[in-house]
Amino acid sequence: MNSAGQPRVVIVGGGFAGLSAAAGLARAPVEVTLIDRRNYHLFQPLLYQVATAGLAPSQIASPIRAILRRQSNATVFMEKLVGIDREAREVVTQDRRLKFDYLIVATGARHAYFGHDEWEPFAPGLKKIEDATLIRQRVLGAFEKAESLPCSSDRRSLLTFVVIGGGPTGAEMAGAIAELARTAIARDFRNIDPASARIVLVEAGPRILPSFSEAASASAERQLERLGVEVMTGRPVTDCDAGGITIGGVERVASASVVWAAGVAASQAAKWLNADKDKAGRVLVGPDLTLPGDPNIFVIGDTALVVSEEGVPVPGVAPAAKQMGHYVARTIRLRLAGGAPQARFRYRDYGNLATIGRRAAVAEFGRLRLTGLVAWLVWSFAHIYFLIGFRNRIGVLLDWAWAYVTFERGSRLITGTGR
Ligand SMILES: Cc1cc2nc3c(=O)[nH]c(=O)nc-3n(C[C@H](O)[C@H](O)[C@H](O)COP(=O)(O)OP(=O)(O)OC[C@H]3O[C@@H](n4cnc5c(N)ncnc54)[C@H](O)[C@@H]3O)c2cc1C
Repeated sequence: MNSAGQPRVVIVGGGFAGLSAAAGLARAPVEVTLIDRRNYHLFQPLLYQVATAGLAPSQIASPIRAILRRQSNATVFMEKLVGIDREAREVVTQDRRLKFDYLIVATGARHAYFGHDEWEPFAPGLKKIEDATLIRQRVLGAFEKAESLPCSSDRRSLLTFVVIGGGPTGAEMAGAIAELARTAIARDFRNIDPASARIVLVEAGPRILPSFSEAASASAERQLERLGVEVMTGRPVTDCDAGGITIGGVERVASASVVWAAGVAASQAAKWLNADKDKAGRVLVGPDLTLPGDPNIFVIGDTALVVSEEGVPVPGVAPAAKQMGHYVARTIRLRLAGGAPQARFRYRDYGNLATIGRRAAVAEFGRLRLTGLVAWLVWSFAHIYFLIGFRNRIGVLLDWAWAYVTFERGSRLITGTGR
């Protein structure tokens, strides 16, 4: 309890899960402390647009402090969590220790290379703003270098872009690079034809977008091919190096720009909590999202493995993270009010969306399947609606409208020196 006799709720992570938990406690008689290593909330679903010069980083990020400005019971600290002392009921940051009565761990996930961390420098993943600007630098930089090279195999490799992983992020990246090359920068060079760039999407499984129905994934593949993306399915990548990738141990694709969109692993939460985890590092939590044997510690969002009554894991998507945050806040409110506990957490799946490019997308809402322009409009409005901050919503809407009319991309800056 704090000096006013109120329970201290510490939330680690200002992503979708942590912020919705904080918002759900706005009127509760508790002291909320939110800790994040960054000072901003990042809208990851639009990161690929930063990586392909469609949006600027500030358009998809909002300061956490500003989001919680009006929530008087919440304090924000920009600190990095390095451990959790369950005995002492304290979280340990790089700078100090903080006491908690309730702890909500919502530290998300990062990309994973299935035991091949040495591939990361050659095939950066997309999780942070810094990743997106690095990929943007490599993609735009490849066109710049190709322009000044004599016609050669080096130029071919510079104009070959590989995306590994056929989930929604991979499909979105491949489609966006194809559109960049074929429209936005098509007429800007004198010695190369950007439209001749080769864009390859490689997926180890039998089809792209495995979380969608077979019909939707076939439609997505056709829409990508219309944009000029080569879709390779059933082709596991066996090596990545500075010269490109190897598929199935034999087939070589020379490329100077490879993007990794194939796997994620949870944050270090299981290690900090000394808790059981699955292969992806997600903490195994109970049906009420608490740590087994520790009812005041909750793990939510991408860093938790939550299994439904039917035995199906809740997917690592933003709506699931938000719903978990709301659920946990309600549990704490009910406990403080002495109410009966809630029924187990149930994920409500409102639908699945993935965009491929201009007027190209797939959307599924139960049995309703949409493709092409209608799906693309639904995708665009859903993303604008869920983006945090009025200014960001208006900015993104205007940028997209401008890009739709002119085919321009507003953020074609090459910044940084690369990793
Ligand atoms: C490229 C990409 C595209 C995606 N597209 C979609 C999409 O189209 N639709 C969809 O529904 N979902 C999408 N997702 C998934 C969605 O973004 C995640 O499911 C969601 O962000 C999970 O929310 P979270 O709160 O669990 O984690 P996050 O949103 O990742 O938030 C975790 C927070 O914890 C903080 N943190 C981590 N470690 C520490 C530490 N040690 N100390 C302090 N703070 C820490 C981080 O800084 C971050 O703010 C996408 C994800 C990516 C990467």
